[in-house]
Amino acid sequence: MPLRLSRTRRMMTIRLEKAIERTTVLDPRRGFEEFAQEVEVRFDPLTGAASRINITRAGRPKQQMCRAEEPAPKNCPFCPSNIEAETPKFTPAFAPDGRIRRGRATVFPNLFPLSGIHGVCAFTPEHKLDLDLFTEAEIADGLFAAAEFARRGAAAGARFHFLGWNHLPPAGASILHPHFQIIASTRPAAAVAMYHSAAAGYLVREGRSFWADYAEAERRSARFIGSGGGFEWFAPWSPTCGYEVLGICASPAASLLELDDAGVRGLAGGIVRVLRGYWKMGVASVNMGAYSWPERGDGFALNVRLAGRPTAGASDKAFLEIFGGETGLPVAPEGYAPLIRGEF
Ligand SMILES: [Zn+2]
Repeated sequence: MPLRLSRTRRMMTIRLEKAIERTTVLDPRRGFEEFAQEVEVRFDPLTGAASRINITRAGRPKQQMCRAEEPAPKNCPFCPSNIEAETPKFTPAFAPDGRIRRGRATVFPNLFPLSGIHGVCAFTPEHKLDLDLFTEAEIADGLFAAAEFARRGAAAGARFHFLGWNHLPPAGASILHPHFQIIASTRPAAAVAMYHSAAAGYLVREGRSFWADYAEAERRSARFIGSGGGFEWFAPWSPTCGYEVLGICASPAASLLELDDAGVRGLAGGIVRVLRGYWKMGVASVNMGAYSWPERGDGFALNVRLAGRPTAGASDKAFLEIFGGETGLPVAPEGYAPLIRGEF
């Protein structure tokens, strides 16, 4: 909505724009009745940066950190004994069975969504905490199920998706039980759009893929971590967060949805190796984002980024990261790449 201010002689027009995304889930708290919610997506009038507002999120259940040797809380909604009764279901038009399953992974709608199509993928039966306990099969099942969710989102008109993982509260998780989140939308997440635009510009300028050139330039550097399963893994030259690791798909795939079975397992294998490396470095809490673009041809490659988060003491996000759009780091990428390399 345009807000007109007439304090100065020239008329200013500040556009305060927003979009509403509507979603309906079948709510386990109300006998699986339909529960409609609205997510308000607001755009900064100067930069276009998006924020997503859903005030019901203030009521999310929050599990307390516990040590691995303590039993899982009996009321964890993502544990196998509770998942059927206590997680929401999709409406039949989206998923006739209410949820999407692959192996031991289950995707259900986020009860507190940040998007009209926002899925949660619980991918381990165990309420596990330690990063060295994750298996390639579990991560692969989670990726397969998340991809199926994103495919259904695309069929419903939301052709962009962004897959993320917050592991443990220092990484922003309210539920400790391991789970991916997938947001499908008619527009790309801001960071996906930024990487796509920059890579498309590089292709126009150089006539080559940025990702192929980057891998070639960095493969023999101190920042190279390892390769296998169709992905190459690096500590980026200029990390955007602590202990950042970048995985680049070596095939021309631009999206998670393009990977075949071997490709998904290869990606899962790389992620598991990075997690083991983190654990040996003393990192217990992790964020991950998988960057997909729906079409090939304009220089974008499927890529995945992980970050190790502090588990005690001060936050690693301060004024420079939150308002400055830059990152201050205590460790150089050459410092931690060798510590993960041994896992590949
Ligand atoms: Zn659990």
